[in-house]
Amino acid sequence: MPVESSVAGAIKKDYDAGMGYKELAKKYRMSFRDLSKVLKEEGSVVVTKRELEEVRSQIKNLEERLDKASYLIRHALGNNKITFKCPLCKEWSYLKLLDIEDSKMWACEKCRRVPF
Ligand SMILES: [Zn+2]
Repeated sequence: MPVESSVAGAIKKDYDAGMGYKELAKKYRMSFRDLSKVLKEEGSVVVTKRELEEVRSQIKNLEERLDKASYLIRHALGNNKITFKCPLCKEWSYLKLLDIEDSKMWACEKCRRVPF
């Protein structure tokens, strides 16, 4: 039985506060089986459109911040010729503007791959 995420959160909060299955079943009008699924996070959870929009908005915000951080790092390391340890080849290297797949990209000088 799908449960709204806010209800699932309330059930978990009550359970963590010490409420037993019997009390939870009565309060939320649910079977022990469904309560067990909610508490083990195995059951389906219904997310409201508002919650979904909030998550989408947070993801978009994180993408924008990540893009800015990536831009900052690429240009700071690349333009100032600062060495970095490449997360792909694990070598100390420099970021260089290289021709990769028909475009110029900041890439690891040693493995010629874009590290982020
Ligand atoms: Zn590399």
